[in-house]
Amino acid sequence: MEYRRMGKTGLQLSVLSYGSWVTFSKQVDDSASARLMALAYDNGINFFDNAEAYEGGRSEEMMGRVLSRMNWDRTTYCVSSKVFFGLYGKNNRPNQRGLSRKHITEACHAALTRLQVDYLDLFYCHRADPNVPIAETVRAMHDLVTQGKVLYWGTSEWPAEAIKEAQRLCAERNFHAPIVEQPQYNLFHRSRVEKEYAPLYRSPAGLGLTIWSPLASGLLTGKYNSGLPADSRLSTPDLAWLRDRLLAQPGADKKLAAISALAAVAKELGTTLPRLGVAWCLKNPNVSSVILGASRVEQLKENLGALDLLPDLTPDILARLEKISSPVAA
Ligand code: NDP
Repeated sequence: MEYRRMGKTGLQLSVLSYGSWVTFSKQVDDSASARLMALAYDNGINFFDNAEAYEGGRSEEMMGRVLSRMNWDRTTYCVSSKVFFGLYGKNNRPNQRGLSRKHITEACHAALTRLQVDYLDLFYCHRADPNVPIAETVRAMHDLVTQGKVLYWGTSEWPAEAIKEAQRLCAERNFHAPIVEQPQYNLFHRSRVEKEYAPLYRSPAGLGLTIWSPLASGLLTGKYNSGLPADSRLSTPDLAWLRDRLLAQPGADKKLAAISALAAVAKELGTTLPRLGVAWCLKNPNVSSVILGASRVEQLKENLGALDLLPDLTPDILARLEKISSPVAA
């Protein structure tokens, strides 16, 4: 495993990490999640990603049971939560979602209980909240850091301008500032990471990135090029919205054609599409950690192999991947 510093912080994250969105408590049970996390940990992964919204809190509860069962030294791993969406489908009253001081504080306390830990290494504002002044949000996050309940805080899918404003307010008030962003990044989704956030990686902002959906929810594995496998994420009944977003939008056919062209490059390199997709994300030095999703041990084993592919991704190969993906990438 390789470790990278998270932006300008001293925190070292494994370049491959593991997240539980839509898998824990939906696709996998306690024993499968324990096998997946053990495989990750044994291979040097030191960051596990979660959120209050995932399965209405049940994803965090499952991860908490695994962490308590494994009894790993707490200093050897990082765990995150995210606040904004609330406990999807469970609680919809005012103040049970969003980035107010009240919800941020209560969401942190609830995540600590569900994950069975004393502090969160990372706590993200899962989206920007247009209904709450940024000054209120940054103060609430700063307070959680000073209370020792959160070590580092960040954002997920915030516009660059909002991150800059949050950092400006924190600098002015001597608050702990947001230092990591969690955006989508993969061969088909590039612009925010490569263009919009570009000025934020340098000093003084020094933003780190923990990126999500490196394989576009599995699309970039090629598994959807010949239909919809029955046991896959996109055939899960209540994820029809995701299936439609990935497979029923205009341009989906062009993406599937691009995947076939990417598969040919993978074959030439003697590797697989999932490894190629993950390794491509890792080639971006601004990425601190690529958050893998996997519903099976075999998938995680395969994707960990992306690390071995890095020396083969020469500038020529990267240019070929760019040529294939750019026309269909957002
Ligand atoms: P990916 O894009 O890597 O998709 C993971 C899925 O792809 C797996 O569950 C599996 O689907 C399929 N897959 C992965 N590897 C293989 C393989 N080798 N062969 C075949 N199929 C494979 O990542 P995610 O979309 O899961 O995102 C990763 C993490 O990022 C999440 O768990 C979460 O922690 C975070 N995230 C954050 C978001 C945010 O807003 N901040 C939003 C979304 C995710 P299947 O189960 O169908 O087999």
